Amino acid sequence: MSSLMRCRLCGEQLTYGYFSKTWNDPHYRTFHAEYAEWLGRWIRNFVIIGTIDATVLVIVLILIYKYWALDPAMQFTLGIAALLLYLVPVWVPLIQHLQRVAFFKKQWAEQHPFQKHP
Ligand SMILES: [Zn+2]
Repeated sequence: MSSLMRCRLCGEQLTYGYFSKTWNDPHYRTFHAEYAEWLGRWIRNFVIIGTIDATVLVIVLILIYKYWALDPAMQFTLGIAALLLYLVPVWVPLIQHLQRVAFFKKQWAEQHPFQKHP
């Protein structure tokens, strides 16, 4: 796999580009400080939400399948419903993230109209 990563905002090549370290990347810290700061907060929130969410899902599934005396069809329906509900709190920040990246990308392009990367 290629180690060359490009900045998702301005297209510049990065030394460290992998997602988990993006907010610590010197390029983002220097040129997109606002984004780096936002991303750091976003990842922390996402981890917290994801953890709480997964815990709640596991508890609900255990309740449905072990402790609630329900027929299998009802258990299946509730299981699917729980899974869908679980996906909502994960999807919302993911969409928010995409919107944020698009926003900062647009902002960068407006502020640097003559800076084009191949
Ligand atoms: Zn950049």
